[in-house]
Amino acid sequence: MINVSKIKKGIVLDHIKAGEGHCLYKALNLDKVEDTVVLMQNISSTSKGKKDLIKIETDFDLDFTVLGLIAPHTTVNYIVDGERTEKYRMELPEKVNGIMKCKNPRCITNVEKVEDILFTLKDIKNKEYSCEYCDSVTRYEE
Ligand SMILES: [Zn+2]
Repeated sequence: MINVSKIKKGIVLDHIKAGEGHCLYKALNLDKVEDTVVLMQNISSTSKGKKDLIKIETDFDLDFTVLGLIAPHTTVNYIVDGERTEKYRMELPEKVNGIMKCKNPRCITNVEKVEDILFTLKDIKNKEYSCEYCDSVTRYEE
């Protein structure tokens, strides 16, 4: 059993889909954290098969947009003094700014190298977003 309260202070990312923990670890730049970070893979979860879990034993400025894009069903637990103080369930972000690139080669953003393009969620099931400039549909690539 994983006891969340074993960590004194930090963040526990729970219910990550099995196999996604590693992507998340890279995308959130957890390799840059100087404190303890633990990635656990393929833990047996009572509810639905296996899951991954990441423990970050420090204050860390999580990028919720990236987290929501990659692993929208993750549960984020904040731990202070060994107690869980906050818990969030991630969802796909409605708006994504500055992370994704437009797939349409003729889009102005690709011609003029525009940064910080705003994408709006169009299709939750397929994780599809539309570009603010050309309305082309794009998915986030990990
Ligand atoms: Zn575009």
